[in-house]
Amino acid sequence: MTSASQAGITIIGGGLAGLSLGILLRQAQIPVLVHEAGCYPRNKVCGEFISGAGQALINQIGILPRLKGKAMEVKTVAIFSATDCLQSSTLPVPALAISRLDLDFQMALQFQDLQGELKTGSRFTGQRGNPGIVFATGRRPQTYSGEFRYFGLKAHFSELELASDLELHFGHEGYVGLLRLPGGMVNVCGLFRARDALPDLSQTWKERLSGKKGSPLSRRMASAKEVDSSFCSVAALGVGTFFPQFNPSEFSVGDSMLMIPPFTGNGMSIAFETAALALPHLVNYLKSGNWENARLNLYNSYRSLLNSRMRAAYAVQWMMFQPGLQALLLKLLKRRPSLLNTIFRLTR
Ligand SMILES: Cc1cc2nc3c(=O)[nH]c(=O)nc-3n(C[C@H](O)[C@H](O)[C@H](O)COP(=O)(O)OP(=O)(O)OC[C@H]3O[C@@H](n4cnc5c(N)ncnc54)[C@H](O)[C@@H]3O)c2cc1C
Repeated sequence: MTSASQAGITIIGGGLAGLSLGILLRQAQIPVLVHEAGCYPRNKVCGEFISGAGQALINQIGILPRLKGKAMEVKTVAIFSATDCLQSSTLPVPALAISRLDLDFQMALQFQDLQGELKTGSRFTGQRGNPGIVFATGRRPQTYSGEFRYFGLKAHFSELELASDLELHFGHEGYVGLLRLPGGMVNVCGLFRARDALPDLSQTWKERLSGKKGSPLSRRMASAKEVDSSFCSVAALGVGTFFPQFNPSEFSVGDSMLMIPPFTGNGMSIAFETAALALPHLVNYLKSGNWENARLNLYNSYRSLLNSRMRAAYAVQWMMFQPGLQALLLKLLKRRPSLLNTIFRLTR
């Protein structure tokens, strides 16, 4: 029998982008090998809020039955400053809340059920750019060059009451999202910036996720209990820039192509969407043998379909971290609740 690695497509990275592309390729009967450096199930820093066009793809890749009881609809959102609730409203389109512990694991199982070949604990160190190799290795870490370092923290909590399905709490050092998950759990995920390295994060993470004393966030977090050592963190996030660039040199999907800023809650959707965009180019490559064309055509699809969304997202994310502009944006969000819908639409 011919092995997948010899005759089909090799995907480096078994996150959402790599696995969804693997599933789509297997649905088209194409042999696929996925190398994943880690293993499943695993916690991942993520707000676990899926919204946008990628939601439809979850249906297409056939994992909805596996997610029964593990995912729930998100309909309402509230925005808080460090002192007040600024607005509470209904999302323009309901989103989905699901733990990455469950989602990535169930997708890995689905891929294997379709006879996809998955090698876990397998970090690819080979040459990049070779024909038939797709990069789905997640965000490209940013080397520290600016004034600030950006980092993300996440944990699951119980005994945490929310007034809306999703709450966003803003402060000077960043913001924290609280999202209802099935089983009475809440995802608490924050994006922060700091001038210096923070060696004490493993001790101070809960304090950082709890906001300033007396804030609405700290009141929410007062009685919250961490679930199953779920804390995880990620550093070297490249969200402080203004003009994002797609990765032109590789055939890549998901964050590996370009990470949309976390504030949009759209990165998972983009992982699914880019997998769907990549599929026809890979099918053409397998017919024609022309890898350079496939890579260029995918790059052009990204530029024409995702450029304006990315730019809008980077601009809003950048504003979030400029204290004066953040205050202005929060004031506008309070006066015009419809602004949230506008931001939502511009980034989708
Ligand atoms: C703070 C924060 C909050 C977020 N909140 C949300 C949210 O609420 N909603 C949303 O939609 N998105 C959110 N995101 C973004 C979302 O998590 C990502 O966009 C999404 O995980 C991208 O999927 P991916 O498959 O491209 O990358 P990943 O999920 O990062 O997967 C990449 C995989 O590649 C593997 N890998 C890397 N290098 C190698 C190698 N050399 N060999 C083999 N394997 C390798 C890794 O182990 C990993 O499993 C958030 C991100 C952050 C940082």
